[in-house]
Amino acid sequence: MIKNRAVLYLRLSKEDADKVSKGDDSASIKNQRLLLTDYALAHQYQVVGVYSDDDESGLYDDRPGFEQMMTDAQLDAYDIIIAKTQSRFSRNMEHIERYLHHDLPNLGIRFIGVVDGVDTDNEENKKSRQINGLVNEWYCEDLSKNIRSSFRAKMKDGQFLGASCPYGYRKDPKNHNHLIIDEYAANVVRRIYNLYLSGYGKAKIGAVLSAEGILIPTLYKREVLGEKYHNAKELDTTKTWSYQTIHTILNNETYLGHLIQNRVNTLSYKDKKKKKLPKEQWIVVKNTHSPIIEPEMFEMAQKLQKTRTRNVGAMEGNGIFSGLIYCADCKHAMSRKYARHGKQGFIGYLCRTYKTQGKQFCSSHSIDLSDLEEAVLCSIRLEARKILTQGDIDELKGLKVYHESKNYYAMQLELIEKQLKKMETFKRKTYDNYMEDFITREEYVTYVSGYDREMQDLQQQKSAIYSQTDMQKELACQYDAWIKAFQDSMQMEALTREAVLELIDKIEVNGDGSITIYYRFRNPYA
Ligand SMILES: [Zn+2]
Repeated sequence: MIKNRAVLYLRLSKEDADKVSKGDDSASIKNQRLLLTDYALAHQYQVVGVYSDDDESGLYDDRPGFEQMMTDAQLDAYDIIIAKTQSRFSRNMEHIERYLHHDLPNLGIRFIGVVDGVDTDNEENKKSRQINGLVNEWYCEDLSKNIRSSFRAKMKDGQFLGASCPYGYRKDPKNHNHLIIDEYAANVVRRIYNLYLSGYGKAKIGAVLSAEGILIPTLYKREVLGEKYHNAKELDTTKTWSYQTIHTILNNETYLGHLIQNRVNTLSYKDKKKKKLPKEQWIVVKNTHSPIIEPEMFEMAQKLQKTRTRNVGAMEGNGIFSGLIYCADCKHAMSRKYARHGKQGFIGYLCRTYKTQGKQFCSSHSIDLSDLEEAVLCSIRLEARKILTQGDIDELKGLKVYHESKNYYAMQLELIEKQLKKMETFKRKTYDNYMEDFITREEYVTYVSGYDREMQDLQQQKSAIYSQTDMQKELACQYDAWIKAFQDSMQMEALTREAVLELIDKIEVNGDGSITIYYRFRNPYA
C-alpha cells in the first residue's frame, strides 16, 4: 500500500502576524496553504485534510486544530503531516519528543517540514530536529523574558498595565497606562467601605448591593464600560455580589491611589496559568492616581477585619471554631486538645467538664480538628443544596407571584423615571424657547407649571411604589443574604473563620463524635 495520504498543518506565528499587519501577507495562512499544497502536488501526495490554528506562540496546548489532527492520527486518517517548519508544528521541546519521536512514528505517520527540511523518515535527521526544538524553545523563553523585563520596567515607572481596570477606575482616554476615577463605580466602592465600617458583614453587604440590582464588577465592566473582560472564576450565571468580591474590594490598596502590580505571573512562556507571586515581588508605586478611599477609612477597614476575625476567643493556631463549640451533653464550651508530642500543637477539642472534673461528670466528647472541619464543610454544603432545592420548589409553588410583582414594580419605576426625565427635558426646552423669544412669558409659566404638576404626580407614584415594595424588599433582602451566604459557602474550598461566624451560631459535639450545627440563618420556609 502506498502511504501518501497527507494533511497540511497551518499556523500563524507571532512574526507572521507582524508581517501581515505591515501589509506583507506572504506569511499568511493563505500563503502557507499554497506553499504546502504546491509541495504536496510536486511530491504526489494526496491532500486529505487541512488543520489550522491561529495561536501565535506555538507553545500552548489549547490548539484545537492541532488537537483534532492528533485525534485523527489515532484514527488512521492520514500518513503524512506537512507543515512549513517544525516550529509551526510546535515550539515545545516536550511536544517534539512526544509527537515527532514517539506518537507519530508509532502510528506510522511521517512529518515533513517544507522549509527547514525536517523529515521524520530520515533517521539522521533526528539530532537536528532535537536541536531545532531546543533553539525554538530558547527563542520563546528569551522572547517572554524580554517582554517580562520591559513590563517590569513600566510597572516600576507607575504605569498601569492591566488589561482590565480595578473596579472604580477606568483607563484615562489620553493615557491608557493611567487610571482615572469612574464616578459611578467609585461610589459603590465608597458605599462598601461605609457599610462595612457601620457594622455590616461582607456577605450582607453583597446581599444589599445585589438586592438593589447593582451590577457586579465583571458585568459592569462588560456591559457599561464595554471591556472584553472575563473573569475565569466567575460563572456566567453569577449576577450577585459574593463575599469574596467584597473582601477583595475592602483590601485593595489601589483605592488609596497606589498601583500594586506584578501580583500574578501571567507571562510564563509555557502555560497560561496564572501564578500568584510572593508579596516581595509585587511592584508597588505610590500615588499614581486619584484615591477613592481615604487612608484613615482604609486603615479602619483593615483593623476591623482583624478584630472581627479575632474577637471571639483567642486565635491560637487554628481558631476557626473558637467560641462556637460546645459539649452536647453538659452544654459547656469545649477545651482545646493538644498533641503530646511533635510540633502539631492544637489538634482538636474535648469536653471541658470531662477535662477538669473527670469522667464521672461527662465523657470526653473528643473530636479532631480535621474531622470537625470536614464535617462542618460537608454540612454547610448539604444545607446549601437543601435550601437551593427548597427554593426552587417554592418558586414553583407561590413565590413566583412575588418575583413577578417585583418585576412589575421595577418596570413601573423605570417607566416613571423615563417620564420624569422627559418632563425635565421639556422644561429645559421650554426655557430655551422662552429665552429665544419663541414663546411668551405667560406661555412659559403655563407650560412649566403643567410639567411640574405632572412631575409631582410621578413623584407620588414613585413613593407609593417604594412603600409597597419596602416590606417585600426587606424580606427579599434577608432571604437573599441568607441564600447568598450559603451559595458562597458552596463554592468554598476550605472553611474560614469569617464564613463560619457568618453562618453558624454554635456547634455541639455529641458523645459519639458526631456534631449538631446550629445555623444562624432561619429557614424562612421551615
Ligand atoms: Zn460535656
